[in-house]
Amino acid sequence: MVRVIRKSTAALGLVLGAVALAVPAQADELRDAVGEDMPGLMELYKDLHANPELSFQEFETAKKLAARARDLGFEVTEGVGQTGVVAVMRNGEGPTVMLRADMDGLPVTEQTGLPYASKAKGVPASGIESGLMHACGHDTHMAAWIGAAQLLAERKDEWQGTLVMILQPAEELGLGALAMLEDGLFTRFPKPDYVLGFHDAAGAPAGAIGYAKGYALANVDSVDITVKGVGGHGAYPHTTKDPIVVASSIVMRLQTLVSREKNPLDPAVVTVGSFLAGAKHNIIPDEAKLQLTVRSYGAESRAALLEGIERIAKAEAMAAGMPEDRMPVVSVQDPYLPSTYNTPEFTEQVMAGLSERFGERVFETPPVMGGEDFGQFYLADPENIESLIFWVGGVPQDQWAKSEAGELELPSLHSPFWAPDAEAVISTATEAMTAATLDLLPRKGG
Ligand SMILES: [Zn+2]
Ligand SMILES: [Zn+2]
Repeated sequence: MVRVIRKSTAALGLVLGAVALAVPAQADELRDAVGEDMPGLMELYKDLHANPELSFQEFETAKKLAARARDLGFEVTEGVGQTGVVAVMRNGEGPTVMLRADMDGLPVTEQTGLPYASKAKGVPASGIESGLMHACGHDTHMAAWIGAAQLLAERKDEWQGTLVMILQPAEELGLGALAMLEDGLFTRFPKPDYVLGFHDAAGAPAGAIGYAKGYALANVDSVDITVKGVGGHGAYPHTTKDPIVVASSIVMRLQTLVSREKNPLDPAVVTVGSFLAGAKHNIIPDEAKLQLTVRSYGAESRAALLEGIERIAKAEAMAAGMPEDRMPVVSVQDPYLPSTYNTPEFTEQVMAGLSERFGERVFETPPVMGGEDFGQFYLADPENIESLIFWVGGVPQDQWAKSEAGELELPSLHSPFWAPDAEAVISTATEAMTAATLDLLPRKGG
């Protein structure tokens, strides 16, 4: 679901273009170990890539990875939040770190032409059969998840505490994290002090690591407005109350929520993505339907936008003289997708460690108005949980260079052409997740 990362500035592109290619400065034992594991992880990646499954249907994916985690010595529970997997490794007194990967593919027919391209098909909620593809790169997340699990299991004598590794279903629906929480993720299993995850990025070069401090991703609300009217003949508008005209006024007036009512320094988006009404030239219908996506960061900002939408819809109907019993109906989808907050001190701490390891490949990036349900884990207990999701650039270096030169339009996440440099994403993320976890779970007393 995430739509991540700006294109970097030209300067950053230069730096990353040069640096991300190179094997970073101090190669170390952990990096060597990742390198040794990469052939196996790429094999796993290609298998996952060729066999995507839709949200809440990740049966084979979950089974496959659960078995591997079990082989590594984790206590594994399947079927948490429908298809979710929880793998726990207890290793003495200490804090609890949770690492999350999401599992679902998308109803997109792959057009990358890769030898391991998906030929899978499935039926999403729309009921229309479609090709399936890991077009959001969740296959890279899962491969790196196994990569980190292997390294941490092999290094039990280097850390102390509890490791909870989860495979989350249905990120693309924004429902999987909540499903796992509601199925007892934090009550049946050790509750984390720290939550970490990453997402591949289609707007950054392969091997770059981006992060936002504080808000990283937005609140996402889906709002439906049914504008009622009094239908009739198109030639006799005075005998009707035209819902198309009212809905049009609503669409225009909604634009003032962001431009006139909100503090310009507090970002928000109100987009009307669908406007449906009427059937024929000369009939004024009795209804028009609008579908909106509404983006914000804070709770107050969100509440003000939703209140404003309700107020504007009603006021425009009143301005048109709509009868009291034909007022618009505004409904906000529940649950909504809450914003993702990277707790600032924790983010600084983890990124300081990763900067030491990866040097200039690490950069701070502004938040985006995309959505992710990763934030749910933090929101389950914001007083006691530190949380961070970071981005790992996936654009192959040659394509990045062409795009910087204006010679190539890059595909975005969810594109049928999205083919990340999986090797760079998986090796970078495996090393980053493992190194961060080792730092967070230090061995006590030698
Ligand atoms: Zn996605
Ligand atoms: Zn995604």
